[in-house]
Amino acid sequence: MKAVVDPDRCQGHARCWEISPEVFTLDAEGHAHPLTEEVPTDLTPAAHRAQRNCPERAITLT
Ligand code: SF4
Repeated sequence: MKAVVDPDRCQGHARCWEISPEVFTLDAEGHAHPLTEEVPTDLTPAAHRAQRNCPERAITLT
């Protein structure tokens, strides 16, 4: 599974990082990025939790 953050939607709330620091990191402006291109299987529940809690619906999991 891949995690993608839409830079046009991400507003830097950092909720995804607070919920799933193993999946997402923040840049200097506080915008989120996936830590790795491929989300390890054991972290998919954390990635889904972050997606559900993103107020901007900026996270896509494929
Ligand atoms: S929760 Fe959503 S809007 Fe906030 S930093 Fe993460 S991806 Fe961006």
